[in-house]
Amino acid sequence: MTDKPRWFQTTAIDYPNSRPHIGTAFEKLGADVQARYRRMEGYDVFFLMGNDENTVKVSKRAAELKQDTQAYCDDMARQFREVWDALDISYDTFIQTSSERHKQCCRKFIQKVYDNGHIVKGKFEGWYCTGCEEFKTEKQYEESNGLCPNHKIPLTRRSEPCYFFKLSTFQDRLLKYYEENPDFIQPESRRNEIVSLIKTEGLRDINISRQGEEWGIRIPFDPEFTIYVWFDALLTYITGIGYGDDEATFRKYWPCDTHFIGKDITRFHCALWPAMLWAAGEEAPKKVFAHGFVYIKNEEAGTVEKISKSLGNVIEPMEVISKFSAEAFRYFFLRECPFPSDGEFGWGRFAEVYNSELANNLGNLFSREMTITWKNFGGVFDGTAGKVPEPVVPNLKLAEFVETVRGHVEACRYNLALQAIVQEFLTPTNQYLESNAPWKLVKTDKDAAKKVLFNAVQSLRIASILLKPFIPRSAEKIYTSFNFPRPWADVRYADAAELKSQPDDLRVTAELIDGKVPPLFPRIG
Ligand SMILES: [Zn+2]
Repeated sequence: MTDKPRWFQTTAIDYPNSRPHIGTAFEKLGADVQARYRRMEGYDVFFLMGNDENTVKVSKRAAELKQDTQAYCDDMARQFREVWDALDISYDTFIQTSSERHKQCCRKFIQKVYDNGHIVKGKFEGWYCTGCEEFKTEKQYEESNGLCPNHKIPLTRRSEPCYFFKLSTFQDRLLKYYEENPDFIQPESRRNEIVSLIKTEGLRDINISRQGEEWGIRIPFDPEFTIYVWFDALLTYITGIGYGDDEATFRKYWPCDTHFIGKDITRFHCALWPAMLWAAGEEAPKKVFAHGFVYIKNEEAGTVEKISKSLGNVIEPMEVISKFSAEAFRYFFLRECPFPSDGEFGWGRFAEVYNSELANNLGNLFSREMTITWKNFGGVFDGTAGKVPEPVVPNLKLAEFVETVRGHVEACRYNLALQAIVQEFLTPTNQYLESNAPWKLVKTDKDAAKKVLFNAVQSLRIASILLKPFIPRSAEKIYTSFNFPRPWADVRYADAAELKSQPDDLRVTAELIDGKVPPLFPRIG
């Protein structure tokens, strides 16, 4: 059990001041594919998600709704989890940062960093808005000509005591770490951005305390202050695996294999986070993967919009799931939006991808195989025990093809993995069926028709294995519709790399409903 390689991954934790939209879901999906793939490949996986609750925005939102902040957070966490569960996101733990356990572990961490001399008391001076009750950046001050961008009132110069984390002292160590670990920031474009930013602008010490806030985590060595939300949010990644109270689990999973985050928060994860860990005597994570955003395509106007409440174009995952299915949702975003870059969602395009690749391609292959086999052979391929099927895709080197798909999955190029499966494998298999037409052949040469069907079933076996991390339910349904010897729970990508014989005659094990195979992906008009 202990010799299993281990794999620890996280997603960013979300502000629960509004419900998750399809862009939020995109990140969780991309992370989920990786977790599912690693589990398949024999890793001991721990997949952490959560909500970022210790922010003033959240307590303000709760106040607006006349709710107790904690009750509001708990209810939002329930709503978030409902969405993630509906999408089959296979997280192992979901952390709420307002939980007592997280707070305790957080205090232990910050105390340690303080004891190690990396936190000092100082004064924070900046442009303050009395309406927002917060400091604005120099950039905001300049851009809005000294007025609050929200309130349009003059910003005032204000200084207050605070605690600084000495981030600047880690600058050289960070640059060295990036250089020695070229894969640390992925994709490479993000890495270049961070490196040049640090080299040109340098790193400044960062104010990690807030004064006069009710909601938040108290600083243990000065309870007048609360911990700045980023300093506490990042700690979820270690408190969630036992930092501070379960040393064995923490040591087992840390350092993290991949933090999945949106590209807008790369700086916090690539600079502040490793420095915080070093300041507490811990190791930096192995990889930060920054994905792109989902935009809304206005198909009538032909324009592309940012998802935003004020534009009124927010689409919640449930809207798509209830119209199509969770599997269709997963497929569309993974196939159509390149995970490292940006992608677009449009209802028309969604239906197009669904119909052409799921309904007419994979779904059609499945239902043809099942229907013809039931109708003509009673669901049994007599005399096929011990027989190795023949390849149906001309010139395809199966083992190489599977390695290509594997490479794409491991590098989070999910769209390319799916593209390869569809274009290089499923489409040619459908063409094989078309050109051999077993539905006609069966009338003149039953044995030849059986052979064609028997060969093509292998494509369903192979495709279902490769698709397991992407559309787990449909893939399972396809695989378990036949008596393939290896149990579904044990299949690995390597099983897809060769055409296999099996000890018993191949047979269809799925049951018919009213004499028919229910379609996997019913076409949408
Ligand atoms: Zn303001």
